[in-house]
Amino acid sequence: MIELLFLLLPVAAAYGYVMGKNSAKNQAHEQNRQITSQYSKGLKFLLDREEDQGLEHLIQLLEVSADSVEHYLTLATLFRKRGELDRAIKIHELLLNQPNLSHVDIDSCRLELAKDYILAGLLDSAEEHLIVLVKNSNKDALEPIINLYSQMREWHKGVSMYEAYSELFTKPQHCAAVANFYCEAALADKTPKLMEKTTALAHKTIRPLYELGKDAFEQQDYVKAIYYWRKLICSFTHTAPIYIAQLEQSYAELNLMNQFNELIIELLPKGGVLIRIKHCQALLTDGQQQQAIEFLTDSLKREPSIRGFSFLLQLLGNSNTRIQTVLAEIDKLVQSYIATKPEYQCRHCGFTSHTLYWICPSCKHWESIAPSKGLDGY
Ligand SMILES: [Zn+2]
Repeated sequence: MIELLFLLLPVAAAYGYVMGKNSAKNQAHEQNRQITSQYSKGLKFLLDREEDQGLEHLIQLLEVSADSVEHYLTLATLFRKRGELDRAIKIHELLLNQPNLSHVDIDSCRLELAKDYILAGLLDSAEEHLIVLVKNSNKDALEPIINLYSQMREWHKGVSMYEAYSELFTKPQHCAAVANFYCEAALADKTPKLMEKTTALAHKTIRPLYELGKDAFEQQDYVKAIYYWRKLICSFTHTAPIYIAQLEQSYAELNLMNQFNELIIELLPKGGVLIRIKHCQALLTDGQQQQAIEFLTDSLKREPSIRGFSFLLQLLGNSNTRIQTVLAEIDKLVQSYIATKPEYQCRHCGFTSHTLYWICPSCKHWESIAPSKGLDGY
């Protein structure tokens, strides 16, 4: 109840200001007297634990004191934080019904009310208000409506919203969400072509290229698989561990391993340990075992990596049969250590997993989970 006392502050200030400036203005004086009286009544009810009546009194004041909307929004937020959603909803609904609110205040109330509804599980009501906000070009509504459609798995609704108001989608994370809405809709309807529409997005995204490559690979259309995955690996090299084995196989099926090795050399400056291991494998195929060992040792000195160390043990074992068994045993230990480490990590919240999720189960961001980096990563 203590937090409600702050509502008195603006009234006291307004009261003092009016009184000091012009004591002859009886009308203003009378208005303030009414405000103070209503506040006192409202607070008295609240202090007497008759909260509903107290709230009614405070809300009634809005008709004469619209400039205190912000305070009511703060009050409603406090209720929401305490889990008293019914009260937060009541305040926001009453505010929305006030005829004298500015457009900015109406939008703020609507957004907050939608958040209340989401927390209360009233998703359809939340959607209604968020759609009004999106129609008003309110970008603050994008995050909650994207989360809502993700939660409801309403992929087509998300796609339609983007197509109608595409100019609002300027942030990379919003584009990532829309790209995934297209992918989910395309996978559900078995219409991969739909994913190609994501090329119109304001930012490049990962999943459409991955899924299109995967679809082509499964159809044994290796030319297409290379086309999509090559685009993906060049723009988002850190995603390589997800599909590099199939990309390599696609090149091999077309007898184009030279092109694959050239691609790997191109990616070396920005690729992780997996790209360097692939380069070593190319050197080995070429009979350049010593060069592979030197290249990997040198890169491990600059950027230590457990996976790189494991591959180095295999290289050293192959080049020295006397100690091959010992090195194989050490490598087994290293491999079992690697197996305990999660392959994926969310770049937004740090959530780790052995499974690739396109939406982070923890922070609900799309495409924020990527192959792990660092000592244990790729
Ligand atoms: Zn996350």
